[in-house]
Amino acid sequence: MKKRGFSGVRPTGRLHIGNYLGAGKNYVAMQDEYDCVYCIVDLHALTTLADTDKLQSNIYEAFLDLLAAGIDPQKAVIFVQSHVPEINELFTLLSMATPLSWLLRVPTFKEKARMHPQNVNYGLVGYPVLMAADIVLYKGEVVPVGEDQLPHLELAREIVRRFNEHFGETFREPQAKLTNFPMVVGLDGKDKMSKSLGNHIELAATAEETTKRVMSAVTDPTRKLRSDPGHPKACNVFKLREHFDPECITQLEEDCRMARIGCVDCKRALAEAINCDLAPLRARRISLAANPEYVRQVMLDGAMKAQVIARQTLDEVKSKMGLI
Ligand code: SF4
Repeated sequence: MKKRGFSGVRPTGRLHIGNYLGAGKNYVAMQDEYDCVYCIVDLHALTTLADTDKLQSNIYEAFLDLLAAGIDPQKAVIFVQSHVPEINELFTLLSMATPLSWLLRVPTFKEKARMHPQNVNYGLVGYPVLMAADIVLYKGEVVPVGEDQLPHLELAREIVRRFNEHFGETFREPQAKLTNFPMVVGLDGKDKMSKSLGNHIELAATAEETTKRVMSAVTDPTRKLRSDPGHPKACNVFKLREHFDPECITQLEEDCRMARIGCVDCKRALAEAINCDLAPLRARRISLAANPEYVRQVMLDGAMKAQVIARQTLDEVKSKMGLI
């Protein structure tokens, strides 16, 4: 029997190539090896009270991108978190098994509380419990994560251990499956690629938009003139070419160090490679977007399949906790 893989994607709208390299590609690859459950975690988006006017369209766009990336609803369950309301009940029940001190020490909570002191809500503190509930509601055993998410998964494992110790063996501790491309740096060359920082390239961007964005990317900061030798390992364009253009990478490294290639030509080659790699995905997305009834049906079917698993888990949890 295949192990259950689980992961959630925050609905921040259209996905970007950082989401794709860091998560989406891994999700697609995992479909054959694991029994996968993927969800768009819309409740998580509420913890920071983001612009909820756009929430529905953001959910839809992210869902479309995952399908276009190659998630096959015949192989994996794909759905929207809030469409299976059992998550709210498990979140409450797991909260009872989670010491507040564990949540207050989470670095991302401290950081968010510092950045948005006017909005330190109860949901934000409980975010890791909701994340743990997501995984265990669907009995997730393997969770694809980047290195930066490992502390969150460790906390989910601690919550599971505590619950099992207190109420009896119920959940398996989820294991991390590290992505091959742990962190994708944005076009600014410093921070993680992120829509909110504007240093991203949307998966669904046109070839022209992609080229324009790539041409604006920061390269090796020490290379001021075309004749200056470059330092490819310090250049984010090089990292992206390693992924999108691997057969050229040895030659590029040498050409860059010897100043035989300029950054403009190098970026143009990267844009071409990205456009070529993403062309099938973008074509699939256009055809899916033209068929919203199909996409809505996949969403509905996914929620129904997920709910079957969720109800079983919840019955077991309530029984262990003496509620039924
Ligand atoms: Fe980066 Fe390419 Fe310029 Fe070298 S030539 S510094 S790899 S953009």
